[in-house]
Amino acid sequence: MTSPYQACDQRYQQQPYRRSGQHGLHLPAIALGLWHNFGGVNSEESCRALLRRAFDQGITHFDLANNYGPPPGSAESMFGTLLLQDFLPYRDELIISSKAGYVMWDGPYGDGGSSKYLFASLHQSLKRTRLDYFDIFYHHRPDPNTPLEETMAALALMVRQGKALYVGLSNYPAELASRAAALLRDLGTPCLINQLKYSMLERSIEPQTLPACSAAGMGCIAFSPLAGGLLSDRYLNGIPADSRAASASPFLKPEQITPERLALLQQLNTIAQQRGHKLSQMALQWVLRDPAVTSALIGASRISQIDDAVAAVQGPALDADTLARIEQLLSA
Ligand code: NDP
Repeated sequence: MTSPYQACDQRYQQQPYRRSGQHGLHLPAIALGLWHNFGGVNSEESCRALLRRAFDQGITHFDLANNYGPPPGSAESMFGTLLLQDFLPYRDELIISSKAGYVMWDGPYGDGGSSKYLFASLHQSLKRTRLDYFDIFYHHRPDPNTPLEETMAALALMVRQGKALYVGLSNYPAELASRAAALLRDLGTPCLINQLKYSMLERSIEPQTLPACSAAGMGCIAFSPLAGGLLSDRYLNGIPADSRAASASPFLKPEQITPERLALLQQLNTIAQQRGHKLSQMALQWVLRDPAVTSALIGASRISQIDDAVAAVQGPALDADTLARIEQLLSA
């Protein structure tokens, strides 16, 4: 029998909260995503321990999507179970997001960006999570086969219906994000945030998309800031049996850990150690060095990873000399 949850009194002293673009909403520097490790294949007790620890560490933002699992939908169901058991008294202290945009069910209405798909998926996600509303609802990826006007109108209507408080985009590149933001503004529902892949190993958003988001008043939440675990000490001495790269996940494969990449990670690790940090901590500080990035959206398979991440944002930001040394390695 699990003991009742009482959140840590010190939770709001653990990390900074950063303003999302020009909105009133502040998000924790470290947010937790439930893409991996929270599915039907994971134990309720390990999920409970991770969520409790995260909230105790000031992580107020949990990120979901309709298809997270496996199986798809099960991360939302797991979250819903734990919400009822542990987090209901804290609902007003939480930012819960979900998304639709990837394939979720068969037929023409289970994928894409149509109003039909987005509303059906939103209703399913609300049921699975046992929530009355999402704090943020995202279109998960652009859909070239749906007019942008239709997708944005659907998002704006969710807000007017009280089923979402804010709306977000995900994986929207610069020009599309700007157009989407303009449409949403005209509909009276300014876009809160763009959820984008960003890390020391994936910098494609830097020249155009990040500036476009800032110009449109949106924040940016950086997903996979540790490149799925590569930017940590996890793979410096081989591939551990309990790691993502050793699992069946198609998103981090052993062949991605090339000798060249490993050499780069070793050099980055040396810089981190010289500063008294872990590589994963330096990687998070690096992503957050730009105020255009509101939050780093991490994944975690164990409590110590949450602790590492939050400890990373407790100290001073990276200094100019360290940033220059990192830049030299990354651009070599
Ligand atoms: P990360 O890059 O943070 O990778 C997380 C993994 O890194 C963990 O599962 C763990 O791997 C390893 N790790 C984390 N902390 C440490 C540490 N301190 N030391 C060593 N290893 C560590 O992010 P994810 O790729 O998991 O993505 C995070 C979230 O971003 C998702 O849950 C989801 O919410 C969102 N996302 C959004 C997408 C979109 O299209 N919008 C796409 C992908 C993700 P291990 O399991 O091996 O221990």
